[in-house]
Amino acid sequence: MIDKLELNTNAQDLREKLGEDANSPVDIFALANQIEKLTIVFYPLGENISGICVKDEIVKLIAINSSMSYGRQRYSMAHELYHLYYDTSAGFNVCAKKFNPKGESEKCADQFASYFIAPYGALHKAISHITKDDRLELSDIIALEQYFGMSHQAMLWRLISEGFLTKAEADNYSSGVRSKARSLGYEEKLYLPLPADNQKRTYGYYIKQVRALQQKNIVSSGKIDELLLDAFRDDIVFGDDEYTGGEILD
Ligand SMILES: [Zn+2]
Repeated sequence: MIDKLELNTNAQDLREKLGEDANSPVDIFALANQIEKLTIVFYPLGENISGICVKDEIVKLIAINSSMSYGRQRYSMAHELYHLYYDTSAGFNVCAKKFNPKGESEKCADQFASYFIAPYGALHKAISHITKDDRLELSDIIALEQYFGMSHQAMLWRLISEGFLTKAEADNYSSGVRSKARSLGYEEKLYLPLPADNQKRTYGYYIKQVRALQQKNIVSSGKIDELLLDAFRDDIVFGDDEYTGGEILD
């Protein structure tokens, strides 16, 4: 049996540690990017894996399946942050895409992720703003997931677990979401993956380390390029700005 209260407290603690308040929607990738010595890799990891977390004395790495929807990638980052900060069971986690996993640490990571993206109190407050009788329509669920930036399946799973929806109701709300969101005036980003030519990227500590090697002048520029290309950073090696018309700093 997982301890939901403790997981919500952990999620609140990590929000605070990363400089976020207890209730607001979060830019989770911006928060993760400032974690010391963490390398973040976006890569299309196939149909079954949502993310990977590796941690030991030398490496801190989180990989996110970039072929999943943006909303699910946000949720998966929160899931992997649980493994990084609170999971003492293993230094190497490969996490399944499907919800309702069997393993204890996967259950904890999913529950933690849900609370990190949509804190318990904030979600209940948002629901009470939307509906007076706690009966949620598809448009209400879309409003909630758009506000918190959570994937549709993750939001359904959470609403079932808190008793706002039955499994049968959730099944009814499991299709036609993108077009409904569009018709309600929302962005569709949450329901789409990154463009295919942009799904492989490395950020964070690895890139900083390559830059440090370059500044120390101890490896050739060819080797630097090779290290960056290994990390799918052809945009740094070849300077994508040249092709995309430079930058706008306004
Ligand atoms: Zn996991």
